[in-house]
Amino acid sequence: MKALIIDNVSPMIPETLRSHGVEVRIEVMPGAEVIKEIIPDYDILIMRVVPPIDRAILERAKNLKVIAVCSVGTEHIDHACAAEKGILIMNAAMGSTNAVAELTMCKLLELNRHTMRAHREVVEDGIWEKNHFKGHELKGQTLGIIGIGRIGSRVAELATAFGMKIIACDPYLTKEEIAARGAEKKELNELLAEADCVTMHLPLSKDSENMISYEQIDRMKPGAILLNMSRGGHVDEDALAYGLKSGKLGGLGMDVIKDEVGDLTGGDKLYSPVFEAGGEFVVSPHIGAVTAEAQNKIGRIISSQLIEALHLE
Ligand code: NAD
Repeated sequence: MKALIIDNVSPMIPETLRSHGVEVRIEVMPGAEVIKEIIPDYDILIMRVVPPIDRAILERAKNLKVIAVCSVGTEHIDHACAAEKGILIMNAAMGSTNAVAELTMCKLLELNRHTMRAHREVVEDGIWEKNHFKGHELKGQTLGIIGIGRIGSRVAELATAFGMKIIACDPYLTKEEIAARGAEKKELNELLAEADCVTMHLPLSKDSENMISYEQIDRMKPGAILLNMSRGGHVDEDALAYGLKSGKLGGLGMDVIKDEVGDLTGGDKLYSPVFEAGGEFVVSPHIGAVTAEAQNKIGRIISSQLIEALHLE
């Protein structure tokens, strides 16, 4: 059996596969065209969320039995086509919960205290001026969580420790279930109107695509902070740029952008209208799960799922 690994994943995964006699090739970010070329040889594809695994790739994957996603979301895979071909898709749902929640707190703190901007002004401009960086404390603010599943619940727990009031919108959970996660249930529009900071932790689907656009930004409190920590497709980035430029958004934090799921290894330059909007904006290149602890946990989860699914001896 042969496995192709196309992202930086825990070394535990190739080690485990090799110890079970699987031949492993590691080719980090080879790009969709190369994957299309080499995929016919492989039984197992191990990846995170880039590039999209579409019908064009799956049609050529004549030996593929499993796609193991070392992450939570699997929307980048054509599920219908994979099902037609009997390809199992597995993920590591619990692996990155705490890591993403801590990064969320990091961005919340950053956008309230401006330490990156302060650092740049000190080091790059040689200015030592505390009055440029008056911030806000999290204590006493209201945090609106859109999607209070594993990650959202952990964010609620951490933010509660900071003294924030938590409200949450999650149509799939009852008022009581949301209360048990430390939050008060709200409809999306109510949450947007009441929260000082809003953070998104839900799967990407037809329902949640572009769920934050111009209308939703206009519903937010003036100067509110928005974080998208789940998938680029949840937000209309032109609307976010408008929010920043107009000052309607007091801050924007993102760990994901729409463009990241494109096949950038072809040389296209990464772009989002928010890059040029100015205002308080912090972005990271989808590093929510990138901690040693999360990668080890994901490595253990994926390795044991592969052994079980493929009956490896
Ligand atoms: P989860 O399934 O435990 O929780 C998702 C929650 O969203 C559920 O409670 C669900 O009911 C709710 N939901 C679904 N549709 C909704 C809607 N339209 N409006 C409001 N709530 C809705 O998933 P999780 O482990 O908490 O992960 C959440 C998302 O975070 C993933 O789908 C993934 O896209 C993203 N994620 C990002 C990173 C990263 O590195 N930044 C890492 C892991 C996961």
